[in-house]
Amino acid sequence: MKIASINKRAVIVTEHGLIDINRASGGKFSSSTDELIPILDSVRAWYETEPPAPTDPRSQAELEADLSQLDPPLTRPRQIFAIGLNYKSHVEEVAMAMPSSPMIFTKFASAITGPSASVELPPGSVDWEVEMVAVIGRAGRNIDRDSALEHICAYCIGQDLSERDHQLENTPPQFSMAKSHKGFAPIGPWLTTADEIADPQNLAISCDIDGEMVQDSRTSMMLFDLPAQIAYLSSICELFPGDIIFTGTPEGVGMSRSPQRFLQKGETLTSRIESLGTMKNTFI
Ligand code: ZN
Repeated sequence: MKIASINKRAVIVTEHGLIDINRASGGKFSSSTDELIPILDSVRAWYETEPPAPTDPRSQAELEADLSQLDPPLTRPRQIFAIGLNYKSHVEEVAMAMPSSPMIFTKFASAITGPSASVELPPGSVDWEVEMVAVIGRAGRNIDRDSALEHICAYCIGQDLSERDHQLENTPPQFSMAKSHKGFAPIGPWLTTADEIADPQNLAISCDIDGEMVQDSRTSMMLFDLPAQIAYLSSICELFPGDIIFTGTPEGVGMSRSPQRFLQKGETLTSRIESLGTMKNTFI
């Protein structure tokens, strides 16, 4: 099941049209994706038992052709975790030591924006980082590896946009602020429920700038896979439904290029993950 937010209303996206969850359920379910995340299992059971007729003729293909109709698929995570240095090839390109445990920082929730949002470039050097984003559906502490994936209800694409000058101007580096400017956390295009993703650790992940591929890898290349991330995070922090995890970026970021390359006004960054869709963000 794919759940998007359009005009601030939660809809199920299908090949044959959109289903407004609140309307089609006769008010049983909320119109807010944030409120549906803790009960996605119930929404899915309702939908799959007797699939309701579309309430809007727009198909998945039409949305993919015009992403501007889509809001961010969630807006109020209690916590956003992000994993730095989580692909071996990315650790090598930035010439840092391999981490012995997940390297965690946060992006603040006010940075969240939608899958086709225009992002205003602040002064400095703004870099791209395509990442798979996992959405927590079930709360927990001290979650073990074996049951970790049961706590994930959905996935989407994320861009961990980063202003490198501020990030690296001091030692140790300043991750969270440099990655939390307005619009620095585009997510989308929608939430794909976890049952649709047979193996989250084997998905193609890439992004291009105006058609030139800059990152192209697979989620199988992570140093700490999702079960390891959830076990580690939940050994310290309680996880709550709606929390999201930016799971790290592969090689190909701009600051490691020779010469370095950063996002410029007018450029469009297209991010793709197999089975999760596409986002297109333009810089102004
Ligand atoms: Zn990142």
